[in-house]
Amino acid sequence: MITSKMNVGFLDLKAQYFSIKDEIDEAIQQVFESALFAGGPFVKKFEEEFALVHQVKYCVAVNNGTSALHLMMMSLDIGVHDEVIVPANTFFASAEAVSVAGATPVFVDCDELYYNLDPQKIEAAITSKTKAILAVHLYGQPAPIDAIKEIAVKHGLILLEDCAQAHLAKYKNQFVGNFGIAGSFSFYPGKNLGAYGEAGAVVTNDKDLYEKMQMIKDHGSAKKYYHDLVGHNFRMESLQASILSVKLKHLPVWTERRKEAADWYRVYLKDIDELVLPPEMKDAFHVYHLFVIRVPDRNGFMQYLKNNGVHTAIHYPIPCHLQNAYKNLNYLEGSFPYTEKYANHIVSLPMSDQLNIELVEYTTQIIKTYFS
Ligand SMILES: *Cc1c(COP(=O)(O)O)cnc(C)c1O
Repeated sequence: MITSKMNVGFLDLKAQYFSIKDEIDEAIQQVFESALFAGGPFVKKFEEEFALVHQVKYCVAVNNGTSALHLMMMSLDIGVHDEVIVPANTFFASAEAVSVAGATPVFVDCDELYYNLDPQKIEAAITSKTKAILAVHLYGQPAPIDAIKEIAVKHGLILLEDCAQAHLAKYKNQFVGNFGIAGSFSFYPGKNLGAYGEAGAVVTNDKDLYEKMQMIKDHGSAKKYYHDLVGHNFRMESLQASILSVKLKHLPVWTERRKEAADWYRVYLKDIDELVLPPEMKDAFHVYHLFVIRVPDRNGFMQYLKNNGVHTAIHYPIPCHLQNAYKNLNYLEGSFPYTEKYANHIVSLPMSDQLNIELVEYTTQIIKTYFS
């Protein structure tokens, strides 16, 4: 039973920093002392390490996850007059990058169980303008990427992966980022691997694409002041690269901790009929960026938890196709029943690599009292 009120933050970045403070402080010091702040050896080292852990040939480090998506679009000449299939249930940036590249996002509903793109609904959205499918591995669970890839191959479409929430996630024992021609990652502070600021990356097994992406992220240049392409400045800061190299070493253990926390939630919450817990897809290695449940009365639920010191969040309250920014695309309410229904009922429970069993026990006790 609950003995005293606790505070359960949604995510505890401070505790994570203090657990690795010495290593981080030393890494930062090295960058300052070398005065190599942009590009250079720290970035290259991180690119090699990140590619290695994802068992992919190449990695291009960039300044955030949205740039990573944009870089994939630019490098594959996805632009004006092209359409890209994007899940309606994702963070806005997945679609935004398509638009910023000049192309048009065409949304598809999620499936009933897993919140990811429903492969069975993709073909109906394909037109003569469709150039690519952007699969998103949402909440840390891989999308059904083999079924999606089959459709991409059948229709001659480019397959891209948004892995911003899925560092180290696997499907059929293969890391995400290896199924499409390229995959993008975000290292936003709250992601499973987070920088102390903004950062992102693209991975690929295609050498030509890798070389082109390295140029585009650096003003279309392979040799300083010689510009073969019109690119952009998407470079990662050295400081972030050095921090990410330290944190990457801890990522496998942190991922196990997230999975353990998810297991505890399942054990403690299994008898509450009002809750829908997140199912794991067969053959999926889910890395629990988020532990998303569904509740009937979300406002009451979230408020009750908050009053008792437990902080929750919503990912995401408004589906992409109903955002004001996409009014011009003329999607009506009711276009994507699952995405829209779930947007009103989903709640993300506290989740991080710093969550311990006491915090999960307390949180689930509060949830039980709410429903009793
Ligand atoms: C975080 C996120 C992004 C954007 O990454 P930033 O680093 O914040 O630009 C893109 N897609 C998804 C699914 C995300 O969760």
